[in-house]
Amino acid sequence: MIPIKTNEEIEIQRQSSLLVGKTLAEVAKIIRPGITTAEIDKVAETFIRDHGAVPGFKGYGGFPATLCISPNDTVVHGIPGDQVLIEGDILSVDCGVLMNGFYGDSAYTFTVGEVDEDIRQLLERTKESLYLAIEQAMAGKRIGDIGFAVQNYVEGFGYTVVRDLVGHGVGRNLHEKPEVPNYGRRGSGIKLKSGMVLAIEPMINLGVKEVVQDRDGWTIRTADSKPSAHFEHNVAVRNGKADVLSTFDFIEEVLNKK
Ligand code: MG
Ligand code: MG
Repeated sequence: MIPIKTNEEIEIQRQSSLLVGKTLAEVAKIIRPGITTAEIDKVAETFIRDHGAVPGFKGYGGFPATLCISPNDTVVHGIPGDQVLIEGDILSVDCGVLMNGFYGDSAYTFTVGEVDEDIRQLLERTKESLYLAIEQAMAGKRIGDIGFAVQNYVEGFGYTVVRDLVGHGVGRNLHEKPEVPNYGRRGSGIKLKSGMVLAIEPMINLGVKEVVQDRDGWTIRTADSKPSAHFEHNVAVRNGKADVLSTFDFIEEVLNKK
């Protein structure tokens, strides 16, 4: 069964998704060469708890931290630690919170100082693919329409779509049905209904689509060690137009001032 949320439930969940966006803006303020990923994680955890929520990932399946911090060739699920950021790195920061019984789950890929132009474009186009996918998240469309929108756009630039990890429903549970692949055929898969809430999260690689997992049981890297980008929003399916519950506005306000 795919959960259908009431309008009241969606408004509660919106607050969780917005808190994730505000947390990622706090992260945006401190990302710079010389900081460790563990220091970033600490700032996020404190901010979330100060706002009456709890980190959504900490303890989930045994994950040890508040954020998944995934630099460069790490696609997702990187564990914060003593790694020091250096100029030219990119960094996917994925954040979940649980507040008033609902999860928010959103991710943004940041740059550390100046990055190579081909990598900067990978980030920009991955984010664009997320918004193309969101345009498909309306009642009557199918799950394959979302995946097609991402795949069709990014493959046009020679990038590849990670197959082994997908987006998901999100609500009272961090991961709910349906799965939301970032690849697919138009008109295929389950039909979308108003009140479904999806975490749409393209993971796009500069090189091959294959990924490998580290021995820590979490960290997912590209098989060819080339960079990967990741952006994620929470989206309520509606008639006529998707309702994006999370936001990058707070993040980009910070980045524009940097
Ligand atoms: Mg996430
Ligand atoms: Mg997610």
